Amino acid sequence: MILNSITHKARRDYLCAFCGMTVASGTQYVRAQSPGGAQAKKAFHSKCYAGLVASAGRK
Ligand SMILES: [Zn+2]
Repeated sequence: MILNSITHKARRDYLCAFCGMTVASGTQYVRAQSPGGAQAKKAFHSKCYAGLVASAGRK
């Protein structure tokens, strides 16, 4: 899993689609589809996304 290509610097505040907390503008965040989820891309903290990917891969 290469996170660099989907990790961005937030230009404004986003809400993490996983934990619901704010992704502060100026910090790194991941913009991606939920693993195995909806089509729309959502914002995640990089740690939250890593956790999502890890749990989605555990089948
Ligand atoms: Zn989060």
